[in-house]
Amino acid sequence: MDAQILHQLGKVELHCHLDGSLSLPVIRRLAAQANVSLPADDAALQAKVCAPPDAQSLMDYLRPFDVIRPLLQTAPALRLAAHDVVAQAAAENVRYIEVRFAPEFSMDGELSALEAIEAVIAGLAAASAEFGVQANALVCGMRQSPAPVTQAIFAAAAPLVGRGVGGGDFAGNEAAFPPATVAASLQFAQSLGLPMTFHAGECHCAANIADALAAGVRRIGHATAIGQDPALIQRFVAAGAVAELCLTSNLQTKAANNLAEFPFKALRAAGAKITINTDNRTVSNTTLAREYELFGQLFGVTYADLLAFNQTAAAAAFIPPEQREALSRRLAAEYAPYVDRH
Ligand SMILES: [Zn+2]
Repeated sequence: MDAQILHQLGKVELHCHLDGSLSLPVIRRLAAQANVSLPADDAALQAKVCAPPDAQSLMDYLRPFDVIRPLLQTAPALRLAAHDVVAQAAAENVRYIEVRFAPEFSMDGELSALEAIEAVIAGLAAASAEFGVQANALVCGMRQSPAPVTQAIFAAAAPLVGRGVGGGDFAGNEAAFPPATVAASLQFAQSLGLPMTFHAGECHCAANIADALAAGVRRIGHATAIGQDPALIQRFVAAGAVAELCLTSNLQTKAANNLAEFPFKALRAAGAKITINTDNRTVSNTTLAREYELFGQLFGVTYADLLAFNQTAAAAAFIPPEQREALSRRLAAEYAPYVDRH
């Protein structure tokens, strides 16, 4: 596949974290506003906000997020951050993106959950209007947090579904806080009608994917460990579940110690629904076009495959059916000249 064509083709991204995807210039602006000093040198800043090359686990990978957290404590900061992520997506021809964030991480100061969510929605909406990209927020509960905190955040988000909020998610320390520890809050979110995705299988724990499926979740963030369990792959396919794959991130967090542990081939062979995502554009130092290129180089993925993955993403997007169909038609038209090429 050709890098220029990959850049220009329309894309759908379902799994992109706000705080892990800020551009360096916007990180500098946010730091100035927050009176936080950063290295003047871009290479030094990049080293601070990218995954450490010697990361041994998800917890190592998450360290750059500590640099960003103090910068996202006001409504203008969140608006700017949300705008920045959509601007980057627009620059590589993403047509629809779901940007996820944890309101709790922006509540160290004076912001309420609702104010944090509204600020992100406002930033997404401004960038949508400016760049012609459709964008929704996904609101993350942190699995290590007390249930009342998480449930208050979901309660604030639920009335905004269809008005800038697409749905919810659980993120954070999966190894120490498996799905059972957040079952009540997941059920609470579902009872509010919040469409849910769920990080699972990022810590060599296939059982967490099974538990998320059993809880009724049909979009799984990462799903990396599913490759260890062929029977679970069959259940995943039978459930019609969608995998939000994040290759570069998985190799950095050691969710997959090597390519053989990354479940793409097994999922594809089983006919599973697959989507390709960046996870964190800045922390993982990647773009969606770059991820597509890697799938081409490493797994022989073709333009026709990419169209199929994008159609899967469009069909799984947390938007009304008529918007999914419009997105699907647009993608089909954009890929049509390339689907017979390699
Ligand atoms: Zn993620």
